[in-house]
Amino acid sequence: MTEKPQYEELELKAGLEFHQRLDTDKLFCSCSSHMTEEPEKSIQKISRYIRPTESELGKMDPAAAKEAIKQKQFIYSLYKDSTCLVETDSEPPHPIDKEAFELALIIAKMLNCDIFDEINVMRKTVVDGSNTTGFQRTAMIGDNGHIEKPLEIDIEGVFLEEESAGILGETKGKKEYRLDRLGIPLVEIATGIIKGTPEEIKETALRIGTMLRTTGKVKRGLGTIRQDLNLSIKQGNRVEIKGIQEIDELEEIIENEVKRQLNLLEIKEEINERDIGKIDLSIQDFTKYFEEDAPGFMKKAISKGGGVYGYVVPKFKGILGKELLTDHRFGTELAHIAETLGIPGVIHTDEDLGKYSIEENIEEIKEDKDLSQEDSIILIASEDPEKAKEVLKELEKRIKKAKEGVPPETRKSIEEAKTKYLRPLGSERRMYPETDIPTIKVNEEEKKDIEEKTPPKPEKITEELEEKGISSELSKQSLKSPHINNIRKIIKETEVDPTTIATTFTNTLKELEDVNTEELTPENYKEIFKSLEKGKFPKDAVGEIIKIKSKDPERSIDQIIEEEDLEKISEQEIEDKIEEKINENQELVEENPHRAFKVIMGQMMKEYQGKVDGETVSRLLEEKMDK
Ligand SMILES: [Zn+2]
Repeated sequence: MTEKPQYEELELKAGLEFHQRLDTDKLFCSCSSHMTEEPEKSIQKISRYIRPTESELGKMDPAAAKEAIKQKQFIYSLYKDSTCLVETDSEPPHPIDKEAFELALIIAKMLNCDIFDEINVMRKTVVDGSNTTGFQRTAMIGDNGHIEKPLEIDIEGVFLEEESAGILGETKGKKEYRLDRLGIPLVEIATGIIKGTPEEIKETALRIGTMLRTTGKVKRGLGTIRQDLNLSIKQGNRVEIKGIQEIDELEEIIENEVKRQLNLLEIKEEINERDIGKIDLSIQDFTKYFEEDAPGFMKKAISKGGGVYGYVVPKFKGILGKELLTDHRFGTELAHIAETLGIPGVIHTDEDLGKYSIEENIEEIKEDKDLSQEDSIILIASEDPEKAKEVLKELEKRIKKAKEGVPPETRKSIEEAKTKYLRPLGSERRMYPETDIPTIKVNEEEKKDIEEKTPPKPEKITEELEEKGISSELSKQSLKSPHINNIRKIIKETEVDPTTIATTFTNTLKELEDVNTEELTPENYKEIFKSLEKGKFPKDAVGEIIKIKSKDPERSIDQIIEEEDLEKISEQEIEDKIEEKINENQELVEENPHRAFKVIMGQMMKEYQGKVDGETVSRLLEEKMDK
């Protein structure tokens, strides 16, 4: 085990941006925010070309402007209940969804933000086609917030915005998107600078996640909450990591990024020690060395009119192969940059060249060019010599930056808590007012109303549950449940034993395999527990009832009980049956009461499956046997 770095000494600074989808209708139309599980089954596809105007390009960061200039065709898939004329930008946006707006205010309040009196919807330029309008609508709800635990951090702002369209695929000059995702309400939370260990930062993020769930109206599941992380260490640089989907992975992602930056700083030192001087690489055509004997991808590039291109990097031996993370070398960083430009691989001489069988070709180059053993060669193969040049120029920029240590850049979260290069760190996207939506005013009365609707802090919620007699373990479990709101509500509104309510939502629901309970509303659950309160069915049948109701929400609970024969059997009937059983097993009862108890209990539960509570049978049986 290697020792963990001293994060405080390293001056680790992080910032988080949460993007949480809300479980309401869409933000600027009344479409459902429920995404289809079969995105390939669209009802219609439309095609658009989007090109930002000259003036917009002028104010964009160079990387985005470059991307925007590439003319692209965008194909959008439409769906039955989740898209309308608003998503296709054929109709102006409708007024902001009331429920989503209120929820955003509640979240801002929960994070101790000052809520603005006037809220303006703005447009943020989007050039990748993920918004049919060419911009994303966003509204700042409040600022100047904070949370106290586990780390004391500032909340810089809470925003309500529209989710972008989801990508379905990309081919040359063409991008395909699904519009069922466009317009789903998203709450963005931006924290101030967080100083702490990776574990503390993760715990802080988990708490924010828990708080969001206590509203009872946020979406759950992969992709419904994403985090962007900003991170820097002493002598490093700000690196932004986009699209972290698992909060639990945050700790390892931070640890890895710190490690990557420390290793890049080591490379910087190494370059300075070697006295490499000015790095100036001249692109060369190495094709002739690979004309006779070469791996398939090189042969293909050559036969299609391209070749093998690259350069010699003097005194770089060992640097390209230096591991920044397990199976992630400095060369991997170069490969990731090439990949973003459409070249799938970079070969360098710190690699095992045997895997391409090009050892001899490389030896020939070294002899021809009179290279020292300390020099490195970098190669790429491409059908398009111009493309190869463009990529090699970008790689040269990155190699030069190795002298400075950590380049500021935007990276993307990938598997195994690693990241890969996405683009240079861009400037903030430009915002301008959304003229189709008037300013939304929030008066004092509305703010007061929001305060009342804001759920208590997580520890207050567990305290409240424990006061109702729920064990501390089950209270914690309940807090993490997506149904925490239902649990609290039903405890307040019925006389049913609180532990039964909490257990139903935390355990029983999980056991219902192949049952989609998402369709059940808080009102449905209330109806179920109201009838349990009245003793209409036994407690043990609650899972069965939820299951039936989920499949057929139109059926009333009374109907289900009657038609599925789930009425609770009266205690008198149970007692009579027990007496009968005791008589039948008289001998066993006298010889081995312990065993008899088990036998009779088993028979009873089998005969009255789902119609009696085990607890009741057990209590009555005990009483009878004592006699
Ligand atoms: Zn719509």
